[in-house]
Amino acid sequence: MSHPEPLPGTNPLLCSNCQAWDNPHNVFRQQIPHSGKDINAAPLETLAQHRDCLLCQFVCSAIEEARTAKPDEFDRLDEIVSVGPGFIVQYDDPSNPDNINKSFYRPPVGENGDPLKCVLKLHIHGHHAPESVIDPRRRQPKLTLEVQALLFYDWPEIHLMHIQRWETPTFDVQLVKSWITHCHSEHGDHCKKLPVTPPQGFKLIDVENLRIIEASESVRYIALSYVWGSSSTGRDLQLVRSNLAQLQRCHGLDKSALPDVIVDAMTLCTDLGERYLWVDRLCIIQDDPVSKHWQILKMDRIYGMAAFTIVCALEGSHVPGIPGVNARPRRSSLHSRKWSYHSDGYTVEPDFYGVVDRSIWNTRGWTFQERLMSPRCLYITEYQVYFNCPQLLFQEDLGGISYSRATNSVQSPLVNVWDATMRKHYFDYVMDYTSREFSYESDVLNAFTGVSNVLANHMRTDFSFGLPEKHLLRAMLWEHIEHGQRRQGAPPEIPSWSWATWSGPITFNLAELVKEYGVLVRFHIADPHGKIRPLDMEENWFGYTENEKGQTVGRMPRYGVMPLQYDSDILWRSCPHNPWNTPNRAALNAEASVLARKHPGCLIFNTTVAHLFMKRCQNSSNRDRMVTLDLCDDKSRDIGHIRLSDRWVNKNIDVRRPKRFVAIVLCASLLRKYRRRGILRRRPAGCDLGKNVWKLCVMLVRQRRTCLDSLLICFSGRHCLVAERIGIGFVDVGLWHRVEPKWKTAILV
Ligand SMILES: [Zn+2]
Ligand SMILES: [Zn+2]
Repeated sequence: MSHPEPLPGTNPLLCSNCQAWDNPHNVFRQQIPHSGKDINAAPLETLAQHRDCLLCQFVCSAIEEARTAKPDEFDRLDEIVSVGPGFIVQYDDPSNPDNINKSFYRPPVGENGDPLKCVLKLHIHGHHAPESVIDPRRRQPKLTLEVQALLFYDWPEIHLMHIQRWETPTFDVQLVKSWITHCHSEHGDHCKKLPVTPPQGFKLIDVENLRIIEASESVRYIALSYVWGSSSTGRDLQLVRSNLAQLQRCHGLDKSALPDVIVDAMTLCTDLGERYLWVDRLCIIQDDPVSKHWQILKMDRIYGMAAFTIVCALEGSHVPGIPGVNARPRRSSLHSRKWSYHSDGYTVEPDFYGVVDRSIWNTRGWTFQERLMSPRCLYITEYQVYFNCPQLLFQEDLGGISYSRATNSVQSPLVNVWDATMRKHYFDYVMDYTSREFSYESDVLNAFTGVSNVLANHMRTDFSFGLPEKHLLRAMLWEHIEHGQRRQGAPPEIPSWSWATWSGPITFNLAELVKEYGVLVRFHIADPHGKIRPLDMEENWFGYTENEKGQTVGRMPRYGVMPLQYDSDILWRSCPHNPWNTPNRAALNAEASVLARKHPGCLIFNTTVAHLFMKRCQNSSNRDRMVTLDLCDDKSRDIGHIRLSDRWVNKNIDVRRPKRFVAIVLCASLLRKYRRRGILRRRPAGCDLGKNVWKLCVMLVRQRRTCLDSLLICFSGRHCLVAERIGIGFVDVGLWHRVEPKWKTAILV
């Protein structure tokens, strides 16, 4: 291979292939990334021979580093490498959030001689690529590395003098401080208008005097959110009753006995000029069940009151400590993620969602509310740090302020849970929460307490077993996404109607399918002391509430797809369970009330109960492991549908020996869209489309008999039913009579 000699009048620090880089206007003129031709396409070994060329050597060393980390992806040295123009990371005015991330191409060289901060795209094409200029629009490279680079040009002649990697190996404390200050001074109350006094017995670490203090008054502090690691190092000091006095003494806290992550968090606090830190294992007395329970109940306040929360959002589970603090190395940006662009092609997007959402930290049950309740978070990843408040998202390698578009996602850091929380959010939260993992399944409700505290306040309701009482009917319409099993180790008192009893993610597809719903049952609940109280539920009849005499208004509302009111009336009058006869069925069966006291947490209510059969729909799909089944009467006529897991169906339904199942009515519903998701696939004969929008939401249940129950059932089985949840489905209002439903008092355990 020849060493290309630079042409006269060109830059001797670049080979002839790379001369275009001598003037940044040549290579960054393409304003839109991915457009334009790559330059310097050549086999890697050729680049390696250009020992005097700044760019060739830069490319080789970056690829060498990547190869060392992932040898499988670079099998051959004769692979063709090309360098895409990449883009310049530059802002017009970092202090003005409205005026950022604007351009890839501005006058690229500052007159003050600042290096050009840019990202170069190295495309690896494989060894059979033609050794010519490669047009990336035609040919997808096998692999693209995005390398952060600083290009140093001299001025005013403009010649490339030097290239180096641009990494941020340790925290830029001043930068982080400036973000926090910016939020405090510019956003003020909008980002933090939290009330409140700390919970009783609230403790903090005084990082200055290395001690635990009791914080009775509101004092500025930082909270830590992290994943408890294994204690293989033996450095697992935690606060217990026996060491409380010792740890409260000045310098009583021995750093060498603490896990790395806590030592690093303390260092970070000091660096940021903060004095107090809250860490669960040192601020909650771990062997004092009473005070521990009290603190857990107040988790929303603890995270909500913190000035900000340090979040250790790491991808790996074995990373010791906090990368970038106490001289701990961070990972090279080369292994991080891809820079992403907004569709306008001129804007670099923050990669916050990708990195933080993928972290181990974000898969854990406890961290869900810690994230949600913290109005301001300093996220630490293996690569860099982010700071987010309800207004802005700051990203270290974007240098300054990074404006993030608001989304409606729960995960959006821009939703301030303390500000606006609605029923819709509840659904989103539970769906996210149930997809998480717990070290101890018994924590499933504890780790949701902070969220339910805040929601309870916004929705003006109490919560029972993770469900808002006021909207219990709707909240009970959750569905499994996959086969759900009893959560191993969950507290036994959680009833089957609560999602918390079951492991695995759930959805609220059905609840969202229901456009309007009407109350057809009145719930009572048995408290742990055996007292039965009525639930304060939203009384709803398709948007019409009870009148002042407590009578349910029987008028039907009008919607685009609604049948005439006259038809609706006739249809509903034909249904054995309707809005007119519900109020007359308020009195609970006396024996059922006695029985219910034996089942704390159960719901007791009068409803219609029927036996029915199930059969698989012919076209049911097994894609997401849930299948749709027809609910049928004893003549095998369809009356409705339900979705259950394939596994459950295989175990419980035998085509040759049809088995009867029990269904109970929960509420009336007007569906948002006919035939969505296959659940309302077919229209039963004799029902026109108009009338068919009316559905009864039914719960398929398994009848339960205990020794005690069976005695009582002898007397009252005809009038009451002890049962647990199997699933939720719909039955056509006009067809419910076909399964001859009977009024009973149901005890849902
Ligand atoms: Zn070169
Ligand atoms: Zn803010």
